[in-house]
Amino acid sequence: PSLQTSSFQPSVWLEFSPLSIQYKAVNLGQGFPDFEPPKFVTDALIESVEKGGLNQYARSAGHLRLVNAISKMYSPLFKREIDPLTEIVTTVGASEGIFATIQSVVSPGDEVILIEPYFDIYTGAILMAGGIPKYVTLRENRQKGQGRSSADWKLDMNELQQAFTEKTKLLLLNNPHNPVGKVYSKQELEEIANIVRKHPSAMVISDEVYEWLVFDQNKHERFATLPDMYERTITIGSAGKTFSITGWKIGWCIGPKPILKAIANTHQYIPFSTPNPAQEAVAISIEKAQSIGYFEEFKSSYQKKRDKLVNTLTQAGFDPVVPQGAYFVLGDTSKIQLNGEDGKNTSITGMGKHLRDWNMCRWLTTEIGVAAIPPSAFYSEDHQHQSANYARFCFCKKDEVLDKAHENLLKIK
Ligand code: PMP
Ligand code: GLN
Repeated sequence: PSLQTSSFQPSVWLEFSPLSIQYKAVNLGQGFPDFEPPKFVTDALIESVEKGGLNQYARSAGHLRLVNAISKMYSPLFKREIDPLTEIVTTVGASEGIFATIQSVVSPGDEVILIEPYFDIYTGAILMAGGIPKYVTLRENRQKGQGRSSADWKLDMNELQQAFTEKTKLLLLNNPHNPVGKVYSKQELEEIANIVRKHPSAMVISDEVYEWLVFDQNKHERFATLPDMYERTITIGSAGKTFSITGWKIGWCIGPKPILKAIANTHQYIPFSTPNPAQEAVAISIEKAQSIGYFEEFKSSYQKKRDKLVNTLTQAGFDPVVPQGAYFVLGDTSKIQLNGEDGKNTSITGMGKHLRDWNMCRWLTTEIGVAAIPPSAFYSEDHQHQSANYARFCFCKKDEVLDKAHENLLKIK
């Protein structure tokens, strides 16, 4: 199938970030930290620029110091030696890692399984490769008498099994999950691996950009470490998420040699290489992070922010889905009645979609002063109604910003 990219519409980010600025709302919409990154990270960039020698194109598949640092950090976590020269490619953010992988693996007519809700960039990349998205949905199955949790969002393994056909080339997993905050248990991942194992030509992208943000007693399990899975899994990481530097756009793919060779070849024809001083600085940051206890501190500061936002949403009547990981919370908006809810005219900006969650998020942004993201942006068209009563709020924000959001959201009651 041929694709006219000119048929693409502006994404959810292009509506809600400008709307939030226009209405001076507290921006809990697009997920990026509003605080400065750690000083050791920004110092590393200054050092990398000042010492010179890094101002020209980097090695295409990845700056040597960075691929070495990635290999050293992840080899123990993957319980195998990851070859820095043949099993890692550094990319322009995780976004390009996902794009380059999909372009490398998917041919026109191949099917790709997506788990809804899914991070919206996945579909663009699949369509540009001529792939056909197939959808399997995570469904909330609340446990009686227990608090609401992202762990209640489950994949029906029969449905997943049925989505696989002889044309399936790729399964896209996102763990920890945006926007639900789900952290897949080892058992869930094993059940997925059992299905994948029955389809020898299918590969898996495991998007683990929120790998360090796993809260409470939950543990991040890496899909690639399950038996036989390394050989068919491309794991995606992001310096943007790991060090609160989303503007630097440095990410990486890790996986078996033959696929990584194809990704390195594809990457030559997208950006060719990734900014060299930023790669050096990320390498220095990775080298330092573990020895100074950075990851523990990072996680505990985010867990406090999560608790703060969950508390606000609970008090404001949003009955939140408490996330096990990542930096988003789904709030339940079913108790809020929008103006003209049963009429036709619920659109405030007249832009984009006219679904309930979009109108709810527009109202939250323009009237209540807190920007949020409608999760239907993360569903295929036929399934968007499933998120009608949710809004996604992010908590990667300064405490005073979360306090201001608290003040504004409590006006709803
Ligand atoms: N995957 C997921 C699930 C994300 O939330 C994001 C954040 N935008 C990305 C990938 C892309 O990461 P990066 O900013 O490193 O491109
Ligand atoms: N991952 C972030 C989010 O989901 C940012 C999205 C983006 O910039 N496209 O909010």
